[in-house]
Amino acid sequence: MKISEFAGYGDKMEQLMRSVQAGRIVHALLLVGPHGSGKRTMARLLAQAMVCTGAAKPCGVCPACKRFLNGTHPDVHLVRPEKKSIGVDEVRALIDALALRPYEGGRHIAFIEQAEKLTPAAQNALLKTLESPSGDVMFFLITDAPGALLSTIVSRCQTVRFTDLSVEECARVLQGRGIEPARAAELAGMAQGSVGRALEIRDDGDYPALRERVLESLAALSDRASVAGAASPLEEDKGDETRMLDIMELWARDLMALQSGATPYQAAESDRLRRSKLDGRALLKGVVLARMQLASNVSWPNALENMYFTLTESGMIRR
Ligand SMILES: [Zn+2]
Repeated sequence: MKISEFAGYGDKMEQLMRSVQAGRIVHALLLVGPHGSGKRTMARLLAQAMVCTGAAKPCGVCPACKRFLNGTHPDVHLVRPEKKSIGVDEVRALIDALALRPYEGGRHIAFIEQAEKLTPAAQNALLKTLESPSGDVMFFLITDAPGALLSTIVSRCQTVRFTDLSVEECARVLQGRGIEPARAAELAGMAQGSVGRALEIRDDGDYPALRERVLESLAALSDRASVAGAASPLEEDKGDETRMLDIMELWARDLMALQSGATPYQAAESDRLRRSKLDGRALLKGVVLARMQLASNVSWPNALENMYFTLTESGMIRR
């Protein structure tokens, strides 16, 4: 991917790239932001620009770029959790590799993905190298939960924060990746501006059918007597609880947007949203509660029916 295709991130990307080229960057970047906000993509672009030997960096066609893109560049090191956490042994192996002279004469590049999974011992092992690496090393620490990092780690890095893009910006990024405009706008809305989430939805073949089932179930809710019938088509979908609740949460946010006069994320669904009798705020509360119940081992059918019963209580559904 070229920088020009990374529309929406333009300014931040350019700024970082300029500091990298001017050597003004500290040797550790901490990229922080929600899932799917582009931090990993940006880290990879910056790193590729650092190894690129072409003119317009990253060119994507020079031998170094090609090795980088197919994961065989000898000076690029990737650490990510293979199990629940990243342990001290994995960090020591990385430090050993970084102590060798870079093969291609430039510098080492180390990616630590999901850095919040570094155990405290692993973080301590990393500290000294972060502060004064023995060779020329550029670290990219990537995380959506920076609170799990020791303050000593954070203070040794230059932090770059990512937020979700606006739906319009997200749609532009998706178009840059070859998705046609109408589909890009639709995906961006369903993903609430998260590029990563939008791509997941695009690649999730079951998503449209699942979403339709969830929305039909919500539309079937009116009074207590309607709960069992409305809930039953969703109760067999074992393993899809999270996706179904995500769909309901987005619907709730859009109902709230519409009810307060704002533009919903799923603008194409405005008519259907207007026809809904549900109160957005009540639905959102219900989703939050259902997630808590699932986390404390309430079964999905029970959590769902609890939510539906609460929603049918007076005042939450317009009749
Ligand atoms: Zn190149």
